[in-house]
Amino acid sequence: MKTGLQIYNTLSGKMEEFQPLQSPQVGMYVCGPTVYNEVHIGNVRTFINFDLIYRYLLFLGYKVRYVRNITDVGHLLGDAADGEDRISKQSRLEAIEPMELVQKYTNNFHDVLQKFNLLPPSIEPTATAHILEQIEWTQALIDAGYAYVSNGSVYFDVMKYLEKFPYGELSGRKIEDLKDVTRSLDGVSDKTNQQDFALWKKAEPEHLMQWNSPWGKGFPGWHLECSVMSSKYLGEQFDIHGGGMDLKFPHHECEIAQSKGLHHQDPVKYWMHANMLTLNGRKMSKSDGNFFTPLQLIEGTSPLFAKPYAAEVLRFFVLQAHYRSTLDITEAALNAAEAGYKRLMEGVKSISTITTSAETNFNLSELLKGCYEAMNDDFHAPKLVAQLFEIINHVHKIHRGDLTISSEDQAQLQKEVNHWISDVLGLFESSQQNTTLIDGLMDMILQQRKLAKDNKDWATSDQIRIALEKLGVTVKDTKDGTTYSIS
Ligand code: AMP
Ligand code: ZN
Repeated sequence: MKTGLQIYNTLSGKMEEFQPLQSPQVGMYVCGPTVYNEVHIGNVRTFINFDLIYRYLLFLGYKVRYVRNITDVGHLLGDAADGEDRISKQSRLEAIEPMELVQKYTNNFHDVLQKFNLLPPSIEPTATAHILEQIEWTQALIDAGYAYVSNGSVYFDVMKYLEKFPYGELSGRKIEDLKDVTRSLDGVSDKTNQQDFALWKKAEPEHLMQWNSPWGKGFPGWHLECSVMSSKYLGEQFDIHGGGMDLKFPHHECEIAQSKGLHHQDPVKYWMHANMLTLNGRKMSKSDGNFFTPLQLIEGTSPLFAKPYAAEVLRFFVLQAHYRSTLDITEAALNAAEAGYKRLMEGVKSISTITTSAETNFNLSELLKGCYEAMNDDFHAPKLVAQLFEIINHVHKIHRGDLTISSEDQAQLQKEVNHWISDVLGLFESSQQNTTLIDGLMDMILQQRKLAKDNKDWATSDQIRIALEKLGVTVKDTKDGTTYSIS
C-alpha cells in the first residue's frame, strides 16, 4: 500500500516515508493520562492531535489498532522516602477508594474526549489490570542481567545496558546529564547509580495500592506499564508510539531500554511527539497552577476568557497548529478560531446550494489533491485547513458566477470536503446551534416567569422553576436579573 505519507520520526530526527511493518495493518500506541484528576486543555490538545493521526490513517485505508492506556497506578511524587503515588494521595484527599478515584477520573476523561469528538481507541488497557505481566517483565529483566533487586525494589541497570546498547537516543541526552534528572523519580539510596530507574517499588505498609511480588509487596514503576501493554497488544515491534514531547525523557527513553533489554530490538518504528499547549508562553501544567480545564472553557467560567467557546471551536483551534509546534492559548486566538470555524462551516454548507453548469472550468482534482498533500506532510492539519479555505474561495466564486462546476463535480466536491471535515479533522457542529436555540427558549421561559412574578402569580412562577429543575436547569435570581445553568 503506497500512500505517500511522510512522518517526522523523533528517533531519527527526520521525515520518513511511512511504511508499516505489516501493511495494511498499523499498530499505534499513545500514552494515556494518569487518572488522578481532571485533564486540562493541554492534555486534550495532545489527544486531539493523535486522534487526527488515527483518523487520517483510517482514512487512507490502514487497519489501525490504536492502543491508549490509562495510568491508574505508579506515579511517584518526590523521592521514594516520602514519595507517594499521586492516586493514593488524591484518594486520601477526596476520602474515596483509589479505584473509585480512578473510575471517577476515567469517566471524566471519556466525557471530555467525547465532547471534542475523539474516536475511542481500539484497546484502552489499564496498568492495574497488567500487574502480573509487569512482574514477569521485571523478573525477565533481572534474569537478562539488566535489573537488580535492592531493598524490596527492582531497578533497571542503565550502566549494564550501556555496555550493549546506546541510551538517550530518543531524547539526545548524554548519560552524564541524566544523573540529576532521574533523581526525583525514585529513591536514590537504594540504587546503584542515580540514572537507574525503578521497575518495581517496595510499598510501605500505609501505601494504598500494592501487590504481592517475588520481591515483597510493592507496585510497578510507571515506564514499565507502557512497554508491557504496548508489546502485549501490538507485538514486540510495532509502528507508531506517541505522546507529548515532555514524555520523551525519561518515560519513552526508559521504555526503549526496557524493551531492547528484553527483546534486543527497537520496539517502535516511528516515534511521534506532540508539542505543548502554552498559556502566557509557559507550558500548561496542573502542578504549576497554569491551566484551564476543558469545561471551564466550554462553560465560560475560566477567569481569563470573557465568554464560553464551543468544543468544536476549541478542536478547530487545536487543529490550526501543526502538532509539532507549540500553541499559545489566548483570547484573541480563540476568537479568531471561532470566526474561522464559522466561515469554514458556512462555506462547506454553501456547496450544497451551488447552481451547476454544463462543465467545470477550473482544475478540481488539483484542488482536492492539495488536501492529501497537506496531510501527507506529517499530518499537517493547518495546511489542510488552508486548502479547505482555498476550496471555499472557489465555491464563493462559483456562487458569484466567476467559475462554473458540473453537477457531477459538485457531488464529488461535496463528498470529499465532507470526508475531510468530518472523518479526518473530526469537526462537527453541535452545541453552537443548540446553545443558540436553548438560549432563545430560555429567554422566552424566563420572561413568562417574570411576567407571572410581576403579577404576583407565585404558583405559576414556582411551577416554571420546578419544571426547569426537573430538567436539570437551575434558575437563579440576582439583583442584576435572572440567570440559569444547566447541569
Ligand atoms: P499526563 O497525565 O501528565 O501523563 O499527561 C497526559 C498527556 O498530556 C501526555 O501525553 C502529556 O505529554 C500531555 N501533556 C501534558 N501537558 C501538556 C501540555 N501543556 N500541552 C500538550 N500536551 C500536554
Ligand atoms: Zn507511556
